[in-house]
Amino acid sequence: MASPTRVEAIASFDGGMRIESAVARPDRYRFFDQLAGEGHFISRGGGYSYAAASFGAGATSIDHRSFNRILGFDTATGHVHVEAGLTLGDLFAFLRSRGWYLPTQPGFPAITVGGCIAAECHGKNQLRDGCFSAQVASLELFHPAHGTMTLSRTQNAALFELTCGGFGLTGCILSATLIARPIEGSQVEVRTEAVDDARALPAVLRRHAESADFAYSWHDFNTSAPGPGFVMSGTRAGAPDKAASTPRASDLRWDTRSAFPVAGWNGPTASLATALYRHLSLRERSPRSVPLFDAMFPLATKGAAYFKLFGARGFCEFQAVIPESAFAPFCDAVWSRVRSKPIPITLASAKLFGGDQRFLRFAGSGVNFALDFPRTEAAPAFLEFLDGLTLEMGLVPNAIKDSRLPAAVARRAFPGYDAFAEQLRAFDPKRTFRSEMSERLGL
Ligand SMILES: Cc1cc2nc3c(=O)[nH]c(=O)nc-3n(C[C@H](O)[C@H](O)[C@H](O)COP(=O)(O)OP(=O)(O)OC[C@H]3O[C@@H](n4cnc5c(N)ncnc54)[C@H](O)[C@@H]3O)c2cc1C
Repeated sequence: MASPTRVEAIASFDGGMRIESAVARPDRYRFFDQLAGEGHFISRGGGYSYAAASFGAGATSIDHRSFNRILGFDTATGHVHVEAGLTLGDLFAFLRSRGWYLPTQPGFPAITVGGCIAAECHGKNQLRDGCFSAQVASLELFHPAHGTMTLSRTQNAALFELTCGGFGLTGCILSATLIARPIEGSQVEVRTEAVDDARALPAVLRRHAESADFAYSWHDFNTSAPGPGFVMSGTRAGAPDKAASTPRASDLRWDTRSAFPVAGWNGPTASLATALYRHLSLRERSPRSVPLFDAMFPLATKGAAYFKLFGARGFCEFQAVIPESAFAPFCDAVWSRVRSKPIPITLASAKLFGGDQRFLRFAGSGVNFALDFPRTEAAPAFLEFLDGLTLEMGLVPNAIKDSRLPAAVARRAFPGYDAFAEQLRAFDPKRTFRSEMSERLGL
């Protein structure tokens, strides 16, 4: 292999999976030409997945971050051709200086384009904008047995579908052509509306999501009522500001976070912090003006303390798309469980999703609901309880956000599990690309 490979200690973002893994960080395309058909590999972007999706025992992680160039931009169509290791933050700065932006982006700027395609990420208004692949016109995929292929909805369409949300298991995404939109205002006018009971959320969220650019909610599940909180919605406003600077993102990597010696989140701190956050958020001026960067990447500058407070042992996230009809019973079940077997809920947040679900993608129609809690002795039983609700209520779990999702749950929760596994094996019988996550899920 042209690029030296080092063995490094790597952990999933939630701290649930840590292993020593071989990592190559190539900066020349001849690296790919020299990849033999033997051995196992997996692409790695920013390493911000909560699950161990970009590393695994016995596989060499290929870190794409040196491939971070912008290869072309068409000012007439907004089509931007980029290498897959480009971060969302760098792409945002490039596009904004030309009056464009990408509507669907996860909330942290060090995440890469390749990571977003492979995890079929969602942004701030999935109901209106769809998932990340909706803004992918085409991509170039490399596989040692097949060479470099162009994939799109009209060229190698089945492989395009398998690769978007395919967790890097079809090969290395080298570059992609993304579809940007004119920026129409580099400020976001943010409105906050109180929601007293999470069970009433779908109707409130729908009202906002149908008319706004961004819409999501936040809830307090540490109180004596089921999830009081608020919905935040945002609409772009003001003139495009092509000269605005891009703030430096805080360092959220696992190794810097785990240096924080004490785990600060527990029952009393979570109750106090969530009550205070709700109070302060509802007192904020509404509407208020927020720079577009801050609205797209809310965790860029404010998230470090929240994650550091989980300490070295880390945290767990459960995220699922819940059919609207099951949302109130789901909230009741979670709230009663948290009251009978207390566990500090540091975050409960929701967005509205629409459209169909396929393969192992985090998609479908309903409420996308996320819960964070510290990785304590109580966490495994709570996760098992949530697995039970997932199967009982027909929820779609988010595999990239859960470093322990069992294969038995994934097989039943994703109707397209078998089709995904079969198509993957038909394309690559040797299953060259693997990760801890793909092995755990039995792919
Ligand atoms: C603070 C924070 C906020 C987040 N917010 C959101 C959000 O709002 N919405 C959302 O959907 N997700 C969100 N996420 C999750 C995150 O967007 C995904 O896990 C994403 O996949 C991470 O991308 P990455 O560049 O870090 O890639 P990695 O974590 O390194 O890899 C992720 C997956 O992509 C594959 N991959 C990476 N690069 C390539 C490539 N070039 N070719 C082929 N496969 C590749 C890997 O093999 C792996 O399967 C958030 C994560 C954090 C830490």
